[in-house]
Amino acid sequence: MPQTAEVVVVGAGIVGASIAWHLTRRGCREVLLVEREMHQGLGSTGKSMGGVRAQFATDVNIRMSLYSIPFFARFEEEVGHPSGYQAHGYLFMATSDQHVAYLRRNMARQRELGLTNVEWLTAGDIARAVPFVRVDDVRGGTFCPTDGFVDPHLVMTGFTQGALAGGATLWKGVTVERITTEGGRVTGVDTTRGHVSAPVVVTAAGPWAAALAETAGADLPVTPLRRMLVPTEPFPGLPERLPMVIDMSTGFHFRPEARGLLLAWNDPAEQPGVHTGVRPGFIEQILTRAVERVPAFADLEVNPRRAWAGLYEMSPDHHGILGPAHGVTGLFHANGFSGHGVMHSPASGRIVAELIVDGRSETVDWQPMAADRFARGAVLHETAVL
Ligand SMILES: Cc1cc2nc3c(=O)[nH]c(=O)nc-3n(C[C@H](O)[C@H](O)[C@H](O)COP(=O)(O)OP(=O)(O)OC[C@H]3O[C@@H](n4cnc5c(N)ncnc54)[C@H](O)[C@@H]3O)c2cc1C
Repeated sequence: MPQTAEVVVVGAGIVGASIAWHLTRRGCREVLLVEREMHQGLGSTGKSMGGVRAQFATDVNIRMSLYSIPFFARFEEEVGHPSGYQAHGYLFMATSDQHVAYLRRNMARQRELGLTNVEWLTAGDIARAVPFVRVDDVRGGTFCPTDGFVDPHLVMTGFTQGALAGGATLWKGVTVERITTEGGRVTGVDTTRGHVSAPVVVTAAGPWAAALAETAGADLPVTPLRRMLVPTEPFPGLPERLPMVIDMSTGFHFRPEARGLLLAWNDPAEQPGVHTGVRPGFIEQILTRAVERVPAFADLEVNPRRAWAGLYEMSPDHHGILGPAHGVTGLFHANGFSGHGVMHSPASGRIVAELIVDGRSETVDWQPMAADRFARGAVLHETAVL
């Protein structure tokens, strides 16, 4: 059992696993991945909808996806494990002038950055693509066929197994109680299995990372925010390649899941905090929005006990917080993804590994996500948060 490591990664969800894999690929052998649960995936990763999209509004999010989605497509080649990538596409539907302008502006920028297959659909095109959707108030929308879904559990497992084969160690059922420092430098971590000396520690602890960073004196402005998902029983007559469909008028969205659907709606009244149960009344609220957009969904069958809730790790500007911590040498963050941590896990893992091993990363222009941006007042603005 090692009590020293080159790098300790705290949290073995999809982000920690990706960092560990990328570190071993870059020749780092003494990587210790510490997970407090007895099984991986009990944090946000196991609760995710698995959506991956490059249709974003900010350059940095578009770029993170332009790197990560092709990586998911060749995941098996790279990592030796399937990712479950399904290129069903994402369809955003606009019902107002404001949303039409927003989608058209985003599409133009996405194309400039290299997303050449994003296209504008008329209401008629949408009615043909998703025949049961009500389009009488729809003004058009954007569709990108390489957006889609992955299986977050498969991706996390693939990265973990690859990292272990590359020499990393995984501790399960061990909690990191604090990050130790001396003179502003990381010296290791105190865990429920004793102290581990290490010059580098990564906070990949998902929605729980802020308190952990604070033990090292670092400010990581990440707050947990509940998100709830409702799977349905099998629903006959769904098109074979149903995309993720987003009704921008309400924020209601859905995707295929097995022979039924997975329904999502982000309640704007939700308050930050560790709330992990499904709120009574939520299923009724989401079904109302579902039937408004798809009248045939009046026949959807839902078993309320199958609905679940998880936590987004929200940053103040809804973008990830990546790279060296502000003011603590040897501490790195990979956090705050605000709903995009699964889809951006390949890019995040690579960037953090490069910063640790090489001191620089040019994979994606990650600087807009740097941890010190809040102190510099250089916050980002992304309005397409799902
Ligand atoms: C309902 C829902 C739907 C989502 N849909 C999508 C989507 O469609 N697409 C997308 O890209 N993202 C989505 N997300 C977001 C995505 O799931 C997260 O961004 C991502 O899983 C974050 O991964 P992570 O590894 O950082 O965190 P986690 O998976 O939470 O992993 C962190 C791990 O750290 C461990 N840990 C915490 N503290 C300690 C400690 N002190 N010591 C040791 N271990 C510790 C935890 O046990 C946990 O396993 C969704 C999230 C939710 C809740």
